[in-house]
Amino acid sequence: MVFERKGTEVKVIKRDGRVVDYNRNKILVAVRKANAEVEKFEKVSEDDIDGIIASIENSGRDTVQVEDIQDMIEQKLMAAGKFVLAKTYIIYRYTRELVRKANTTDDSIMSLIQNSNKDVMEENSNKNAYIASTQRDLIAGEVSKDLTKRVLLPEKVVQAHEEGVLHFHDMDYFVQPIFNCCLINIGDMLENGTVMNGKLIESPKSFQVACTVVTQVIAAVASSQYGGQSVDIRHLGKYLRKSADKYRARYNERFGGTLDADVIETMVEERVNDELRSGVQTIQYQINTLMTTNGQSPFVTLFLNLDKDDEYIGENAKIIEEVLRQRLEGIKNEKGVFVTPAFPKLIYVLDEHNCLKGGKYDYITKLAVKCSAKRLYPDYISAKKMRENYEGNVFSCMGCRSFLSSWQDENGAYKWEGRFNQGVVSLNLPQIGILAKDNEEYFWQLLEERLSLCFEALMCRHHALEGVTSDVSPIHWQYGAIARLGQGEKIDKLLHDGYSTISLGYIGLYEVTKLMTGESHTTEKGSKFALKVMNRLRRATDTWKEETGLGFGLYGTPAESLCYRFAEIDKRRFGEIEDVTDKGYYTNSYHVDVREEIDAFRKFQFESQFQTISSGGAISYVEIPNLQHNLPALEELVKFIYDNIQYAEFNTKSDYCHVCGFDGEIIINENLEWECPNCGNKDHNKMNVTRRTCGYLGENFWNVGKTKEIGSRVLHI
Ligand SMILES: [Zn+2]
Repeated sequence: MVFERKGTEVKVIKRDGRVVDYNRNKILVAVRKANAEVEKFEKVSEDDIDGIIASIENSGRDTVQVEDIQDMIEQKLMAAGKFVLAKTYIIYRYTRELVRKANTTDDSIMSLIQNSNKDVMEENSNKNAYIASTQRDLIAGEVSKDLTKRVLLPEKVVQAHEEGVLHFHDMDYFVQPIFNCCLINIGDMLENGTVMNGKLIESPKSFQVACTVVTQVIAAVASSQYGGQSVDIRHLGKYLRKSADKYRARYNERFGGTLDADVIETMVEERVNDELRSGVQTIQYQINTLMTTNGQSPFVTLFLNLDKDDEYIGENAKIIEEVLRQRLEGIKNEKGVFVTPAFPKLIYVLDEHNCLKGGKYDYITKLAVKCSAKRLYPDYISAKKMRENYEGNVFSCMGCRSFLSSWQDENGAYKWEGRFNQGVVSLNLPQIGILAKDNEEYFWQLLEERLSLCFEALMCRHHALEGVTSDVSPIHWQYGAIARLGQGEKIDKLLHDGYSTISLGYIGLYEVTKLMTGESHTTEKGSKFALKVMNRLRRATDTWKEETGLGFGLYGTPAESLCYRFAEIDKRRFGEIEDVTDKGYYTNSYHVDVREEIDAFRKFQFESQFQTISSGGAISYVEIPNLQHNLPALEELVKFIYDNIQYAEFNTKSDYCHVCGFDGEIIINENLEWECPNCGNKDHNKMNVTRRTCGYLGENFWNVGKTKEIGSRVLHI
């Protein structure tokens, strides 16, 4: 624009070309806003601001572009040594520009409908983006992301997200006041009843009904949160006994005079076993066939734990055995062939009585091992290691890997069920390494800066939930899944005092170690550095917890699509860096590089130390060949898990080709295509492929980064 001078009056040319009168107040407001955001010593005085404005006005120009004014301000601030203030002002400008833009969703939504938005469509391998109802969820997600970036988050958090400094997870849900994941208080819901869709659900009188209620609760809960949920199966034992008592009373009444007691007992047993089978089947089939409003099967974990002090341990042993038996069998695909279901995830707890050292329940563990060899699940939690890490307690993670920290009620009793996670922000460790090159001092300085940014981003998550009332999700807040608050009651007390957690995630410990030390974190030199980084992250969350009273935890990010996103951003910015950006993905949390040769025992032992530090979330895996015909080998590993690592899983391959009927490993060929090794079929619609993608299994195929990562995985046995 051109600027005309009338006397001392300056004209300003706006971005759209319009000429307006110069308005000193606008500059004043912008500089003051930036000034208010920085530390005291970075601030400029009102006099300084006057001086800056005067110098613009006295520049002798008649017309001036609005961008030029802003550049002049930045230069003046820099010249005065106020670098942070200058940066803050730049970010303020940047956001104003962003807000000025119209919404950014038109293209992304149209391409979703036309099935050409690969990024969004492949972001979550549990969502089939061709299905109309899933599309609706994805479209809502695009709108939410847009509003989050333009309106809801501070500009510097958005900028950090865009630059891959950090990842603000689940932006596609941030527009609504819902949380991440939880451990459902299912015992209380079954015992005291619940309400769904305005209808009272009373305490069940039989196992079959209890299983149906559990399934309904899971569906309702999944629709009002975005992360995973877990259910401890031990609460079902009581209802299996109720069923037995019911049949015993009925048969005694009818046949008491004519049949022997042991005959009646056999009849009861047979009837109860029937009910056990159909109840477990209800849970398994319902969860797999359910589509929640999120456009996916609910992310559910069933926690299979035999507690020696449980009065229903006998019933629960039967239930767990049945769950594993049905999982081993699989679920029929559309061709009627049994395949590996992705949900629910199963976690099997190893304790003294079932750790394959001659315990009473070893027979169930043997079945679990057989099941893992064929169906990937169950994963394993060592009660022994867990008690070391969590003040003597054993409890389920929320969803796939998010662990609560200890919390005691007013009577000093530990409480785990009915608690939740507010959300996650993840830090890109490799990027810090790239920027620091091998200047360690600068590395730690940059890490500090970025940690405070993560803290700020996490507080945005927290503040977004504050003041929310129980009415947003009655099943969570009013009818027992989390709490039994009154209508209209605020959820705030559950956000504070560490009742719920809030997580700092991280990704690429391997890559950052490689960048800073030239070695993998499995070497002596490398592991020393890696531990230092991990301990610093942990100290950050501990400090934040002390300062705010909020349940901050350190969380090993699963990084399903993030492993790709961060690596792509860094490759664009910094080019190809060997072993870092050239692979197409970053390594999950603290994990050993998927390409690195390391045996299964050593991998578990090595990674175990990081699980203790990363107590807000961690899971380790080993990649195994098909061991269905060598179960003793897998049993050795399970024994090893019990003594050495808290939470572990096995990755094996159990795929199916519809074209030729091949039942084994469908491979990733050189062009990164999935291909049947038997007949060469490459049609995704004619194969079932199940792989571990994060802590969960995925079966709708993956983005290119994740596919590369899966293709690079070496065997550990
Ligand atoms: Zn085939």
